[in-house]
Amino acid sequence: MPYPDAAATHLTPAEDAVPADLLALDATDPLARTRDLFSLPDSVLYLDGNSLGALPAHVPDRVAQVVTREWGDQLIRSWTGDAAWMTLPDRVAARLAPLLGARPEQVAVSDSTSVNLFKLLSAALHLQDTASGGTRRVILTDADNFPTDLYVAQGLNALLRDRYELRRVPALDLAGAFGPDVAVLLATEVDYRTGERLDLPGLTRDAHAHGVLTVWDLAHSAGAFPLDLRAADVDFALGCGYKFLNGGPGAPSFVYVSERHLEGVPAFLSGWMGHAEPFEMAREYRPAAGARRFVVGTPGVLNLAALDAALEVFGDVDLHALRTKSLGLTDTFIRLMAPVAARHGLTLVTPLEHARRGSQVSYRHARAGELMTHLIRAGVIGDYRTPDILRFGFTPLYLSYADTYRAAQRTGAVLDAVLGAAQVQA
Ligand SMILES: *Cc1c(COP(=O)(O)O)cnc(C)c1O
Repeated sequence: MPYPDAAATHLTPAEDAVPADLLALDATDPLARTRDLFSLPDSVLYLDGNSLGALPAHVPDRVAQVVTREWGDQLIRSWTGDAAWMTLPDRVAARLAPLLGARPEQVAVSDSTSVNLFKLLSAALHLQDTASGGTRRVILTDADNFPTDLYVAQGLNALLRDRYELRRVPALDLAGAFGPDVAVLLATEVDYRTGERLDLPGLTRDAHAHGVLTVWDLAHSAGAFPLDLRAADVDFALGCGYKFLNGGPGAPSFVYVSERHLEGVPAFLSGWMGHAEPFEMAREYRPAAGARRFVVGTPGVLNLAALDAALEVFGDVDLHALRTKSLGLTDTFIRLMAPVAARHGLTLVTPLEHARRGSQVSYRHARAGELMTHLIRAGVIGDYRTPDILRFGFTPLYLSYADTYRAAQRTGAVLDAVLGAAQVQA
């Protein structure tokens, strides 16, 4: 019999009996106060902030103000007046820069991650082509990279008349795959299925030792743990505004450009908003200074404003404390789930080693899709990824150890109900 539809507000006695050690961790949690900065329904245990971050409570007011006052009353005057919409992308970039270990002028915020991939991969290939005299014809990528990363590389390569080979190797073999024919490494730091985190500084170092440029996708990294892109000497990076950064559905994405490339990096989507002086209306394109050249067209003010407000939450968050809590929550979930996994044949695919883990926990199970449907009905919101992955994301800004305990308890109860008592032997 399936577990009954339920809300997290209706806790079973077992779910209510949070062990004292976990309550003590919550009581001393330096991030406990940020939970109140979010507007989350009490009826769910939300373990999907890696897909769509929760709503920061002050975002609706900010968006309403932009709509009614800045747009409704001030109209066209908001581009330059108090609202200064023209420079909003730069202000959001400046807010984001410390989360990336970047200077503000190295960051631009606009468009989607997919579009930004095109901008950065085309730029990296062109720089490499000039530097190497056209001898490097391989784009090296993780075989299980996120589909859009692969598709954008395929589309760009088609535009370039299949000049490049898109060489896909398993993530753990990337380090041994550099060579004189490789132009660019296109890699995602945290695997969206398994939550495995690659060694970004190490792979970047290896890439450079072989003359290879790096384009890092930080979709599941930015806002999940501290990044130091300058120290790691990353060439290019990009990521999502709506996952761990909580900018809302379809929030603008960011790009990062190394200081080494900032002067000369080509912007092939050379739109007027990336021009040095958009309102000169000049005939010839002249790129804006720094990463701003990657802001192509008119900024999406509503979604930028939502992201801008969402990033205020990070204002005084210690990202090292965030990482410590993320590892604490994922360790706790893995530990509490161990007996559930054993009795129902779930295979943990997330590395136990901290350095190799992002901010999620994933299991394989042949009936993963069906199980997640039941879990969501029961108020535990994770997600399913094809072909057989149950994925649970942990956002330390709004999840507690008690939430983690309850999620594991309820997941166990749902699986017992759906998969049947026959399997419950442990
Ligand atoms: C979520 C995600 C994307 C999403 O790209 P969009 O253009 O925002 O749809 C891209 N790459 C990776 C690795 C992701 O996890």
